[in-house]
Amino acid sequence: MAQANSFPSQARRKAFRHAVVTGGAGFLGSHLCQELIGSGAEVTCLDNFLTGLPDNLAHLRSSDRFRLIKCDVTDYLHVPGPVDLVLHFASPASPADYLRLPIETMKVGSVGTLHALGLAKDKGARFVLASTSETYGDPQVHPQPEDYWGHVNPVGPRGVYDEAKRFAEALTVAYRTTHGVDTAIVRIFNTYGPRMRADDGRAIPTFIQQALAGQPLTVAGDGSQTRSVCFVDDTVRGVLAVAASDLAGPVNVGSPDEMTILRIAEQIVAVTGSASAIRFVELPVDDPLVRRPDTTLIERELGWRPRVSWDEGIRRTIAAIVDQRRTAGFG
Ligand code: NAD
Ligand code: UDP
Repeated sequence: MAQANSFPSQARRKAFRHAVVTGGAGFLGSHLCQELIGSGAEVTCLDNFLTGLPDNLAHLRSSDRFRLIKCDVTDYLHVPGPVDLVLHFASPASPADYLRLPIETMKVGSVGTLHALGLAKDKGARFVLASTSETYGDPQVHPQPEDYWGHVNPVGPRGVYDEAKRFAEALTVAYRTTHGVDTAIVRIFNTYGPRMRADDGRAIPTFIQQALAGQPLTVAGDGSQTRSVCFVDDTVRGVLAVAASDLAGPVNVGSPDEMTILRIAEQIVAVTGSASAIRFVELPVDDPLVRRPDTTLIERELGWRPRVSWDEGIRRTIAAIVDQRRTAGFG
């Protein structure tokens, strides 16, 4: 029998009617809220603004289908009425953020995930966990397919994030097998784009900020470590395609376009027209040396592949950070 709190399941795949987005005031969450509102859904965003900003949602506040609730998802969660999708995106994501917030990161990955899964169970909703390529750690298999178990140091500094996400994945599977919750896990690879905090410490916003300020770009190690960076519009389209499918995952969502960090820095200097030099700084402990998703699964099952080129994506990201700096009074 359908629960009083849930929509009939056959309506679900056409369009979601009411989505709850935890971490919706963050970088990815705000784009997800925007897409869902654009698709005609009602959206409830739950966020405590630990690393996100209400300003990221300012353009949605006038919609009567959008609700922003300030709350910590590690506390008890209550959302009134039917819900047919829960996107669990709350968690610090930048290494600088989770290294300064280690306990909050572990709590939101564990207790927060428990509560978000409980909400989905109660409402009979589809649940999508924002997991990460960090579950692969410093990988010994390259590129990384979903059936690779990873190479993570649980007691290293990055363990607080990596292990919280690995726990969250295991809990998600347990709710699926034990309680029959309709769950999915997306393993998101490095994503960049407008609404990243310019000071969040991740490589791309940091380099852009430094290039615009005429400061040296701080490249870690010799810059030969790689990342495969995906523009936010593509990541969001991939996440929502998984949400609308029957896939349980894990499903990699990311660009197979692999670049060294030094090349990313050099390109940002070139595109901004900056005179900044490169300054090599110490490589952080356990920094993964390579990272690239095997995207066979999502391409085969959902026909998804990134559409936005690096050239276009980086120009749009630089333009957004120029705007942020102008608003903050930096020319
Ligand atoms: P972000 O820091 O911009 O957003 C995270 C949001 O979660 C913030 O708005 C923050 O305030 C909120 N939050 C944190 N703890 C909370 C709590 N206890 N209760 C309520 N809200 C809380 O990060 P992001 O880059 O948008 O990442 C979003 C999600 O996607 C994270 O789960 C992250 O692990 C995952 N992810 C992101 C990337 C990426 O490249 N951006 C890659 C892999 C995975
Ligand atoms: N990095 C860097 N300079 C910076 C910030 C990051 O060289 O100012 C490097 C970092 O050591 C890593 C890569 O860039 O090798 C990507 O870091 P980011 O924080 O963006 O994401 P990660 O993939 O490590 O989570």
